[in-house]
Amino acid sequence: MARFTRDSVDRVKEAADIVEIVSAHTDLQQRGQDYWGVCPFHEERTPSFKVNPRDKLYYCFGCEASGDVFRFVEEKEGLDFASAVESLAERYGVELKREHEDPRAEERRRRKARLWELLELTAKYYERYLWDSQKARRARAYLEERELGEEVLRRFGVGMAPSAWDQVLTGSQRRGFKVEELIAAGLIQKGRQGGYYDRFRNRLIFPIRDQRGRVLGFGARALMPDAKPKYLNSPESELYRKSRTLYGIDRARGPIAKARRAIVVEGYTDVLALHQAGVKEAVAIMGTAITPEQIAMLAGLTESVVLALDADRAGADAMVRAQKVAGGKSIELRVAAMPEGEDPADMLQAGSVERFMELVDAAVDLPSFRVDLALGRGDLGKLAGRERVLDEVGPVLKAMGETALGFDELVRRVADRLDTDPSLVLARVRSAPDADAQENGAGGEARPPRPVAVSLTPRETRERALLAMCIADPETGRRFIDQLTDEHLSPSGKPALRWLGAHLDDPMDGLPREDAALTSLVTELVMRAESEPASEGAMQLNFDLLELQRLEDGISAAQKAGDYEMSSRLARERAALTDRIAHAGVAGP
Ligand SMILES: [Zn+2]
Repeated sequence: MARFTRDSVDRVKEAADIVEIVSAHTDLQQRGQDYWGVCPFHEERTPSFKVNPRDKLYYCFGCEASGDVFRFVEEKEGLDFASAVESLAERYGVELKREHEDPRAEERRRRKARLWELLELTAKYYERYLWDSQKARRARAYLEERELGEEVLRRFGVGMAPSAWDQVLTGSQRRGFKVEELIAAGLIQKGRQGGYYDRFRNRLIFPIRDQRGRVLGFGARALMPDAKPKYLNSPESELYRKSRTLYGIDRARGPIAKARRAIVVEGYTDVLALHQAGVKEAVAIMGTAITPEQIAMLAGLTESVVLALDADRAGADAMVRAQKVAGGKSIELRVAAMPEGEDPADMLQAGSVERFMELVDAAVDLPSFRVDLALGRGDLGKLAGRERVLDEVGPVLKAMGETALGFDELVRRVADRLDTDPSLVLARVRSAPDADAQENGAGGEARPPRPVAVSLTPRETRERALLAMCIADPETGRRFIDQLTDEHLSPSGKPALRWLGAHLDDPMDGLPREDAALTSLVTELVMRAESEPASEGAMQLNFDLLELQRLEDGISAAQKAGDYEMSSRLARERAALTDRIAHAGVAGP
């Protein structure tokens, strides 16, 4: 992670308007000093999402999503911390300064920056060639035939690679780039005789960018009908990973957040045709099945993803795995199957965008789609055919989960069509292999899905209530903080106690961001402290209940160890404590 000076990060935070940023995702209403809205992280009807504009914090009382303005941008735009800082710095015009970096990290950053520069220059070169060269006539004619106008082509930086063997190679070397850098950027390759030559020649070029608009690689379409392969992509590299890239994401990011929906299509020209027709929330997966990483990227922007793919691609196993990712992220994944042999670009060309949008609006959820696909394909008259259907739908329904909305109905639908009992279908679902079995060990930096509405243990509930009140009233709180020990607390509460012991007066100041669990818990406590009343009586009661728990743990440990003297001593303490709690007469939280 790039390290910015503490001071520059603070200045970005100072400048960022959290109300404006959150408002792009949910409508906020001012109440007192705070703003409230429907939570953008979980489904709800009544607002339980609170934004504190002074400290730039947010907290959801429903799902406990919490954090500061950087965290919000990280979550909602799928960026890491450094990128969130950079993106806000850019947006609010703050200049960032870096701390003295470890020389190797600095070297890596410089190298990446050079590769990005090289790719950007190459993209610009291809783009100029498309519009300025006589030899690009065929390419321009092809695009015109596909009814793609100059405006959208320029917006996406579409270009053309000349047919010469070494234009990019020699041009980049003249600008001071090394052969090794050209290889790392995927722009050249080694020939049989040992020399190097341009990877992309006589092809239409589609620059593939990351969310922030940096060129990572290229997709290239052959212009001669007999050229093989028809599509050639940049090789996988330190910058470009196909499975983690979505074509058009840099342009579609804003529109997706606004439309609260992403539309995933197959190819470059589909994205161009849709954006040209005003459907700007479209991105493409570039000819492979959609990956969990791609879904995770979209889940950072919206809760609803429509896959407008041809039926076979949409039916791929990878999508069932994607569904699982989606499950943890509470994202709604639907499928709009495209008619066979017709892609969105054809459809828009043939007439209007309405037909395409009708298909999108009629999209069905992924499990229903998969189940119908299996039922439609299977030969239900034969035992083998019925078995195949069960094999196919088992993992789909299992990944969906038995408590999911619509699960029972799908099981009934399968049972009806197979003319069998739902309990039999259910048994097959339970014994089906896990859809994500093959995914393990794949590595991947995809974030772990956010657990929605985690249920707390009674101990966690009490310790959080107590710690929040200690923050609200630090003078009284200090006494309780000093009395609390690790034995009172849950595993997550212990680091929070240590932190508050040293930072009770300003808990948000200097929180170690790399410790996500601590940061998120402390943020939550600070937000609760602002809205929940603290009283010494309530603090005492929560402390007593934690103490009671500690004594009970001690008693059972002593009994297990055969130390009856200890256990009876603790039991006497417990009796005295329960007596005090019973006579305290304070209502619990
Ligand atoms: Zn929430």
